[in-house]
Amino acid sequence: MTLSITHLGSGSGGNATLIATDETKILLDCGFSGKQIEKRLELLELSPKELDAILISHHHIDHARGAPIIQKRWGTKIWANFETCARLGMDPVNECHLFEPLTRIDVGGDLSILPVSVNHDRADNVGFIASHRGERAAVVTDLGSWNDELVRHMAECVHISIEANYDSKRLWNGPYPERLKQRIAGRGGHLSNRQTADLLSNVVGDHTRSIVLSHLSAQNNAPHLAESEVLMEIDEVFTGDISISTQEGPEFAHYLGQAESEKIAI
Ligand SMILES: [Zn+2]
Ligand SMILES: [Zn+2]
Repeated sequence: MTLSITHLGSGSGGNATLIATDETKILLDCGFSGKQIEKRLELLELSPKELDAILISHHHIDHARGAPIIQKRWGTKIWANFETCARLGMDPVNECHLFEPLTRIDVGGDLSILPVSVNHDRADNVGFIASHRGERAAVVTDLGSWNDELVRHMAECVHISIEANYDSKRLWNGPYPERLKQRIAGRGGHLSNRQTADLLSNVVGDHTRSIVLSHLSAQNNAPHLAESEVLMEIDEVFTGDISISTQEGPEFAHYLGQAESEKIAI
């Protein structure tokens, strides 16, 4: 088996992504309750005790909620950077394995993860690049802007999961208070569909087999808006599968290098 990427769910109500190889199973983010994580893993015939590690991108509750309880109950290793660990109230010596940006973490014999810093809402957030036998997948959410470093790493990936948080028109015409709108749209907020399309146009090529758009705002976005805005930008170069990860899940899995996603039978 190659590496698989399965979103257990994505959005402001919780985010968690299972990365699995023959030897290693990890979660990138653990933003659902312990019970929900257990339930969603069970749909994949997995138990939390089979997880080798959980890596947390940043301390926001929709990315970290279930991590402490899963650790307590199952003894699962938690990896995070120092600030995330501290802001989650976890002991950086005894309860967290600390990582540094751009320093590769070997989480199993056949899987390594590179955290890449991204700008987000006074959090020390990172995107993750997973490598398995020379092939790579990116899982990146919660960023208001991007830099060359991120582009360089994402451009090497055959699978990309990236947030498409809001449709600009819906956000600015919507009911959120002005200050919140500005925070979401700012350089440290979230990516609009337009920005996601721009970022993807810099990193997608013939080699890209699959894309998942994630963390869509229920209030300020809709799957068809995100997908059409992105496809308009990359249609000429991208021939693979594009899917949307919603708050429900898991709904599908991608296997590195395969263009088609596989539906999860529920
Ligand atoms: Zn966040
Ligand atoms: Zn988030």
